[in-house]
Amino acid sequence: MKLFRLLLMAGMIASAAQAKVCVVTTLTDLADFTREVGDDLVEVRSLATGIEDTHGVPMKPSFVPVMNRADLIVLVGFDCEHAFLPALLEASKNPRIQKGNVGYVDCAKGITPLDVPKSTDHSEGDVHPYGNPHYTLDPVLAKTAVAEICDALVAFAPEHEAEFKRNRDAYLAKLDAKIAEWKTEAAPIKGAAFVSYHEHWPYFAKRFGLKYFGTVELKPGIDPTARHIEELVSSMKAEHVPIVVGEPQFPEKVPRLIAEQAGVTLVKLPIMPGGVPGTDTYIEMMDYIIKTMVAAVKK
Ligand SMILES: [Zn+2]
Repeated sequence: MKLFRLLLMAGMIASAAQAKVCVVTTLTDLADFTREVGDDLVEVRSLATGIEDTHGVPMKPSFVPVMNRADLIVLVGFDCEHAFLPALLEASKNPRIQKGNVGYVDCAKGITPLDVPKSTDHSEGDVHPYGNPHYTLDPVLAKTAVAEICDALVAFAPEHEAEFKRNRDAYLAKLDAKIAEWKTEAAPIKGAAFVSYHEHWPYFAKRFGLKYFGTVELKPGIDPTARHIEELVSSMKAEHVPIVVGEPQFPEKVPRLIAEQAGVTLVKLPIMPGGVPGTDTYIEMMDYIIKTMVAAVKK
């Protein structure tokens, strides 16, 4: 009996040592960051694949068992995932990842939001009630999310603290080197104005010195009206705005029409890894964004 217990304990210890931290992220950028920090100590699954609206990732029945098994849920925050995450958390019946518990990892914790509206309710369809949640498109702010993910992994699996922190530091150093490179590359687009479909780009524009002229949407989450499009086109012409950004999350028809009417360049930019081919990681995605914008301005 004693031997059996000992064997059982040894088995439990061995399986605990092999068990990976099971992490679910809402978006693909957060999954990439988690893989960088967790390496082979984590098993990561993103709910989004890269082409979904960050505010409305379509819910699949397969998400529920995945969320049920998760040790951590990593999210953008600022209510970005309001339309799908609360319902999934409830359906998961997993106490570890509920809001307020250690498994609920809100990456916005250290971020000061831009464009905070006066009202914080969703009644008018506004999907940015606590300010703009698309801060990871600024690679400097993305570093804050990386740090937050590392802290959460350490809190969950303190026995791996040294490894998580080593991986985090290595990735942050890699990001720092890329940020310096992106700033140099982006020098020709400094001051360039652009519009986009959804309000994804204020943090990006601020970091790289671009002028974010406006959006095709009337307000975040609210479809454009004919009058809004007409006014946008005429102000773009008057101010010589050279670029319209269409995100893969939204239909290309209206941005294309605006580009034609205003006589400007339409570019398609990913807002998370996987949004367009060749952008599987965050670094690849930022490389793609900078290169595409520079090429569009030079046109
Ligand atoms: Zn948004």
